[in-house]
Amino acid sequence: MAELNIPDAPAIEGTTHLHSGKVRDLYRIEEGEYAGRLLMVASDRISAFDHVLDSTIPGKGEILTRMSLWWFAQLAPVVANHVVSLDVPAQVRGRAVICEALEMLPVECVARGYLTGSGLLDYRATGQVCGIALPDGLEDGSRLPAPIFTPATKAALGEHDENVSYEAVVGTVGEQAAADLRRLTLEVYALAERVARDRGIILADTKLEFGRPGRHGPIVLADEVLTPDSSRFWPADDWRPGRAQPSFDKQIVRNWLLSPEAGWDRAAGGPPPPLPPEVVERTRSRYLEAYERLTGERFL
Ligand code: ATP
Ligand code: MG
Repeated sequence: MAELNIPDAPAIEGTTHLHSGKVRDLYRIEEGEYAGRLLMVASDRISAFDHVLDSTIPGKGEILTRMSLWWFAQLAPVVANHVVSLDVPAQVRGRAVICEALEMLPVECVARGYLTGSGLLDYRATGQVCGIALPDGLEDGSRLPAPIFTPATKAALGEHDENVSYEAVVGTVGEQAAADLRRLTLEVYALAERVARDRGIILADTKLEFGRPGRHGPIVLADEVLTPDSSRFWPADDWRPGRAQPSFDKQIVRNWLLSPEAGWDRAAGGPPPPLPPEVVERTRSRYLEAYERLTGERFL
């Protein structure tokens, strides 16, 4: 298990801290109008190669929160979401939402329209992804004949998620919920892929998380959606299957960490070095560009 290095979440009055992931801090609201709801705070932390870096990307939490909110609104005709209010404490304004406390379905719901990452690795090893057979001859970045649902189990902090078959999802959540997750995931992908394509961006794949207000309640879209942390967005103009695609995410960070300049021995398992200011700035610009191109709005 990799070292995770997640800083202690700051205390927020009237809440109890529940959980911190690589990027977000989750609190339960104890008092007032929203008692019993959750406060989900996106930090400026950035992770790469399963490490949380010492450097932060200023504004990243706010950019990703606003992008998620914009997508939730676009997706409203397809699926309900967990957002209750943006009336959050001043110290986290702009990068937090008050949301419904859901029982999360323990499935990372991934839709892929293009082949790369863990999907590509599985395909190269078996010709399949999550038990779905794919045609011969696909390469890194190939468009799939049709988008596919490739669920994964949520790994413990610092571990990799593991791709699983649809039958495994049925085993975990039951037949009805599994069918709903697959249908909703593919519907969200189809809508978002179209929106992104109109803006010159390929949505290669995306990961969604769903929950229910109770064991038998309706399925609700939760977590963050369609951000560069949960999705692969590629500039459509530069798409060339057969190599790694340029993308709107932390690719700049990954490339720098692997460069001789960083002097980081990844295999040794030690923490990555801090990012130079120039790499921080270019990464911030990349996230901003993704926001502005996808939403068509200036980030002000
Ligand atoms: P990581 O993303 O670093 O692998 P993580 O997924 O546990 O770890 P974050 O994504 O940073 O951590 O934190 C968000 C957490 O909140 C996730 O565990 C997610 O499942 C959970 N979550 C999101 N929305 C809700 C909700 N409406 N109700 C309950 N839990 C939620
Ligand atoms: Mg997460």
